Amino acid sequence: MAKIAVIPGDGIGKEVVNEGVKVLEYLNSTYELGLSFKEFDLGAARYLKYGELVPDNVLNELETFDAIFLGAVGDPAVEPGILEKGILLKLRFYFDQYVNLRPVKLYNDRFSPLKGKGVDEINFTVVRENTEGLYAGIGGFLKKDTPDEIATQEMIASRKGVDRILKYAFEYARKTGGKLTVSDKSNVLTYAHNLWQRAFKAMAQEYSDVETNHYLIDAITMKMVRNPEIFDVIVTCNLFGDIITDLGAELQGGMGLAVSGNINPDTVSMFEPVHGSAPDIAGQNIANPLATILAAGMIVEYLGHEELSAMVDQAVQSSIDNNKVTPDMGGELSTSEVGNHLVKVLKELK
Ligand code: ATP
Ligand code: MG
Repeated sequence: MAKIAVIPGDGIGKEVVNEGVKVLEYLNSTYELGLSFKEFDLGAARYLKYGELVPDNVLNELETFDAIFLGAVGDPAVEPGILEKGILLKLRFYFDQYVNLRPVKLYNDRFSPLKGKGVDEINFTVVRENTEGLYAGIGGFLKKDTPDEIATQEMIASRKGVDRILKYAFEYARKTGGKLTVSDKSNVLTYAHNLWQRAFKAMAQEYSDVETNHYLIDAITMKMVRNPEIFDVIVTCNLFGDIITDLGAELQGGMGLAVSGNINPDTVSMFEPVHGSAPDIAGQNIANPLATILAAGMIVEYLGHEELSAMVDQAVQSSIDNNKVTPDMGGELSTSEVGNHLVKVLKELK
């Protein structure tokens, strides 16, 4: 039995999550996974009506779930950042989701700006530290609003924080049989990333079966563009992970396929498409649901059904290859038609 909390959110979040749940429900009934679903109405409408973001009783209830399936939050009627901070970041921090897992996979050559790259050549996963680093929010202003003003922003790397993300990355590389690359700026960030280096080297001893290597962050951006085929799993800090996952999303063909897992194996993990609520196209049944369907695949993988996740991936591949996609990817199907098509392909793959 696993309990999944569904938070469709705002705008196209609702539309794409519908299709993701469609896929999960199909897998659940066909393969008897014992999943149960409950929907939560967090988002702009609730905020505008009651002033509530995530009330304590909802937070307490979410604690009893295994995974959260999130669409997107964000609405033109709400000041930018309020819903993101009050819902997304709130859940991320409350559940201490220290891993941000971002697969980067090119499904079809025609979507990549790297002309001529074969589809087998871009297929790796970024493991981003999600709780500390330069995003810890520590710093301040000296002589604010004067010509002599100085602002500081501190980068935090705790040994426990670095060890837990490295452990997750090593385990992930071992499980998927891939090479683990660590990326940092240890030549310049001589404290925080010196700790990363020492922690990485120490842990590599314990995982002697996992092949490892190291690139400085500036070098890895070049490699990601020139030789993306050399990567399987990349582990990096919060800031660098933020940047290179967007680079990765672009390499694989944009936001329509970018998917993200916010994971803490000991609490509650949350899976979502990377794109936002896209108010400009909401309500038209044209939003691309594939990233959300891949997030559904990540959920079943997270719950231990790797073969079903691989099947979802194969079904996405098939719908792309056959141009059974939404207009943003050059197809003619609606959001719900893509979801229906996915289920049809999954039935054929059974
Ligand atoms: P954010 O506030 O997080 O930036 P957003 O609502 O602006 O979110 P983005 O993810 O930045 O949305 O997307 C930018 C634009 O790309 C959208 O306005 C929309 O036109 C398009 N877009 C995003 N996601 C999708 C999707 N799933 N299908 C089709 N078009 C999309
Ligand atoms: Mg935007």
